[in-house]
Amino acid sequence: MRCIGQGLESLKTFCAVLSLPNPIEQKSHDVINNKLSRVMKEVAEESMKRAAVEENSSSPDNLLTVSGDGTWKTRGHSLLIGVCTVIGAEAVYSKKKLSDGKTIGGKGRLTDSLIDKLVHYYGNAIRCNSTSVKEMRKAILAVWGHSCSTDDEPMHWFCPTNPNTWCKYNAAINNNLQNYKHKPSVAKAVRDVIKPVFADLSHPALLKKCLGDKTQNPNESLNSLIWKFCPKTIGSSLQIAEIAANLATSVFNDGNQILITILEKFGLKINRNVCVFLAERDNRRICTSRQRRLESSFEARRAKKIKKNKEIELFQEQERISYDPGAF
Ligand SMILES: [Zn+2]
Repeated sequence: MRCIGQGLESLKTFCAVLSLPNPIEQKSHDVINNKLSRVMKEVAEESMKRAAVEENSSSPDNLLTVSGDGTWKTRGHSLLIGVCTVIGAEAVYSKKKLSDGKTIGGKGRLTDSLIDKLVHYYGNAIRCNSTSVKEMRKAILAVWGHSCSTDDEPMHWFCPTNPNTWCKYNAAINNNLQNYKHKPSVAKAVRDVIKPVFADLSHPALLKKCLGDKTQNPNESLNSLIWKFCPKTIGSSLQIAEIAANLATSVFNDGNQILITILEKFGLKINRNVCVFLAERDNRRICTSRQRRLESSFEARRAKKIKKNKEIELFQEQERISYDPGAF
């Protein structure tokens, strides 16, 4: 059931609609989950070791370039589960409670939309400055300073100051700063947590590895695999998130056929149907991945956008209709 991102309740429903007897009770399910957790850790660690050896052997100078990323299971803020991924290296989980006694999430704190925004801006800061570590660092620190600024403590030192700057505070300096009011920022305890994270994420040694136009696709694909096995929409425990992260890591590194190793560790017999199904699925996965890489490459996206704009221009020219608001 974990392979399809479902738990005991779904298994009971599945059995019920097929007129099968009730499968197992919670206690037995917990025992199986504990074993699954141990097996998955073992399989994922072996898989990561193999991936590291493979990665190392393909690097002539023994220097590995890794791509790191973070993803959150943010449903409900009473239990916050985050997974850090380093492609081909390791997976770490964190669960945090802040110094002021409150959890990190909630209103005025680290909300889903703020996390999305910060991740998006951080990604942009790297992608838009892919040729200079100095500029990349400045752009990342601008994201932190701008997002954590308040009227009492403005921190827009790193925000652009050009006439077309996106930073409304710096734009207001040239006009009338008195009229500028900051939007409410996150609580101080949350700002204190964000600060060292940004310091780590803007470290020149890390940014040096981000130089060049590398895409985030492998990270995104691993992240989506983790949450496929442990959907964000279904409340689940840290243990389930760990099982999902280990399962996703193993499948990401070795393909769906790693499930055969897992099933064997449970003492289950493997028949031809399982092997054929998993092999077919892996072949499909490789084809889809190649296709996506092609489609989502920067050049492809840019070309698509230019083509679309040209089509709109052409259409408007042909029709001689202005679609501007109030043009009719
Ligand atoms: Zn700013």
